[in-house]
Amino acid sequence: MKEVILCKYGEIALKGLNKNNFESILVKNVKRRLRNSGSFKYSRAQSTLYIEPLSEDTDIDEVVDKLSKVFGIAKLCRALTVEKKMDSILHDSMDYLAEALEGAASFKVNAKRADKKFPLKSPEICRELGHEILERFPHLKVDVHDPDVTVTVEIREEHAFINALKLDGAGGIPVGSSGRGMLLLSGGIDSPVAGYMVAKRGVQIQAIHFEAPPYTSERARMKVEKLAEEIATYCGDINFYCVPFTEIQEVLRDNCPEELFTILMRRLMMEIAQRFCEREDIQCLITGESIGQVASQTMYAMVCTDAACRIPVFRPCIGMDKSEIVSVSRKIGTFDTSIEPYEDCCTVFTPKHPKTKPALSEVEAAQAAYDYEPFIKKAVDNTVVKLIRNKI
Ligand code: ATP
Ligand code: MG
Repeated sequence: MKEVILCKYGEIALKGLNKNNFESILVKNVKRRLRNSGSFKYSRAQSTLYIEPLSEDTDIDEVVDKLSKVFGIAKLCRALTVEKKMDSILHDSMDYLAEALEGAASFKVNAKRADKKFPLKSPEICRELGHEILERFPHLKVDVHDPDVTVTVEIREEHAFINALKLDGAGGIPVGSSGRGMLLLSGGIDSPVAGYMVAKRGVQIQAIHFEAPPYTSERARMKVEKLAEEIATYCGDINFYCVPFTEIQEVLRDNCPEELFTILMRRLMMEIAQRFCEREDIQCLITGESIGQVASQTMYAMVCTDAACRIPVFRPCIGMDKSEIVSVSRKIGTFDTSIEPYEDCCTVFTPKHPKTKPALSEVEAAQAAYDYEPFIKKAVDNTVVKLIRNKI
């Protein structure tokens, strides 16, 4: 029994003249993802990528699991390869279909003929295979409008493919087709979700994390690295920038009005992140903020934060409730790590009464009253960069 995996494109199929470009990036990403899973033959036709394992002992379950985390694939299905003869289509496929048809009450057959020379037309293929399925699985009924299972036969140049089980792919567009973004990654629930969402739109993600030892621990940083590794299963390899932020926080505490501490801290975080963006040609910042969640995320506070930014700040969680963010985080597998109880630098020296409606002029005046530049430079110079690999 020989199986292939069919990856159906989502939006890439609609990309017109750019389609080839998107497709090549997708194929490159898929090949990289499967580099440790065996060797494969790849072919492309009709908005589908066909992946054929070249050795018998390939673990197809594992391959499908990996592919289900590659952006740009809308649907995945495993298909049986059979000889391109009606007799083989009818008889070699029954055991294979048994699993998919087991719990079903109804089915329909769908035939696609890429090879127009095949002697039977699509309706005839459907009729014959439908008949055979009914004989073999008498509990089933045909339902062409709302079947439990659709069995698809594709007649292609070399073989025929038969499949019945379709799985959802990760959707989106391939990572690497939409520029580069710097994710401000904390140890919380929201920022890993934000990174996942932007990567889903094809953006290649780097991550920056601010730590404040000894107020924050080594364990807290390891937790954030683990989150980066978890989102790397979707986003691909990530450059992880770890910024020593303690001194800046102490200088801020000693020199700025207490109620503006958080907002100035966030502006300095953005400033440092942008220095790396400029150096590495990264075009945007990404945060896990959501309007009104905490004092630093009021509209007024975000206006003051954005005024310190020279590049766009994307906040994909902006309109989401916490419960919605949590459900994405469970789906992508970051939730359990995010709720591990370690401290974040944002909670060090937090004022008792942060201003929820800061005016930009007072924030700018407070920042201008002290020369933070030497501390920014020092933090940038002492930042440690580490490559976090997608291990899966
Ligand atoms: P999260 O769940 O992502 O931690 P949050 O609700 O705790 O978010 P804040 O602590 O106000 O919110 O942080 C808002 C955003 O600022 C985060 O989503 C993240 O993008 C960024 N951020 C916060 N702390 C850090 C940090 N130590 N390093 C890097 N980015 C951070
Ligand atoms: Mg946080």
